[in-house]
Amino acid sequence: VVILGIESSCDETAAAVVVNGRDVRSNVIYSQVPLHTIYGGVVPEIASRKHIEKVNQVIRKALSDANMTWDDITAIAVTYGPGLVGPLLVGVGTAKAISYAKKIPLVGVHHIEGHISANYIENKDLEPPFMCLVASGGHSHIVKCTDYGKYEIIGRTRDDAAGEAFDKVARAIGLGYPGGPKVDKLAKEGNPDAIEFPRAKFADAPYDFSFSGIKSAVLNYLNSCEMKGIEVNRADVAASFQKAVIEVLTDHAVRAAKDHGCDKLALAGGVAANSSLREHMRKSAEAVGISFYNPSLIFCTDNAAMIGAAGYYDYLRGIRDDYSLNAVPNLKIGSR
Ligand code: ATP
Ligand code: MG
Ligand code: FE
Repeated sequence: VVILGIESSCDETAAAVVVNGRDVRSNVIYSQVPLHTIYGGVVPEIASRKHIEKVNQVIRKALSDANMTWDDITAIAVTYGPGLVGPLLVGVGTAKAISYAKKIPLVGVHHIEGHISANYIENKDLEPPFMCLVASGGHSHIVKCTDYGKYEIIGRTRDDAAGEAFDKVARAIGLGYPGGPKVDKLAKEGNPDAIEFPRAKFADAPYDFSFSGIKSAVLNYLNSCEMKGIEVNRADVAASFQKAVIEVLTDHAVRAAKDHGCDKLALAGGVAANSSLREHMRKSAEAVGISFYNPSLIFCTDNAAMIGAAGYYDYLRGIRDDYSLNAVPNLKIGSR
């Protein structure tokens, strides 16, 4: 089964060819990041226009990199939510047009289920059930993958996503957009124990997160330094902030796996690219006998190979979409 994956939910225009869900034959990503940097974040209208401009060329390159033609493609898998409605519509519209013109089945894929499925690509032995921490720009969820395409949400953020906190703190200390990789890099030069930032916990929901408090704590710290005329050590702020976030993410995810009897824990989403998080989670999981999985960096942030992987298992389950498929900006996990 050969799947052409298409992804356009945010600021990456991406297409990939994936064979049997795990064998990536091509993975083309056009990142719009430089285009949005001057605005300090993604501008939806600019993103939509750029997707329109790039999508056909990205798809053509995905086919040619894989040495394939349309006749080789079994099905087209496209992200239909969650994400920005304009950008999503470009991918969905393109996928429907190709499906109609070439008579190729169409499968709508959930973006976050794609992030989770990125783990299948390089871990050929990974099979459900497993626990997964999804930490990205818009989501921070602990999800139990009970079977291929079947998900149960165990915990979620009550406010900001982890990636959002990274981006906001990065802006506050003058690192610019996108913040995650820049905080990651600067944190390596700082002392993670220099400043004590809060770690939010909920007595009634031990797997839930809150990251707005730590973001405010960083802003308060920066303000108080300014008022006292103390020079801020930005590397210490980055390292201490990152340590607090990583500890909470790891603690909750490992505990969720243990409590639910999962001996496998996976990591997914853009924040999964964080070097300290990967290291810390692996150590913590393996210390209690839980196998740990994470995708390579290129499959952590937005890409279409992960959509091809998730789309393959949706295809096997018999999921097909017709031309009424629409973008769903707030699509729920495990909704089909
Ligand atoms: P979602 O997947 O929730 O719809 P998104 O697609 O915009 O949101 P992703 O592309 O999955 O998000 O991830 C981007 C996020 O990951 C950004 O917030 C970015 O700062 C963060 N990120 C990327 N690399 C790192 C890193 N090395 N350390 C920490 N955060 C990172
Ligand atoms: Mg992105
Ligand atoms: Fe994403």
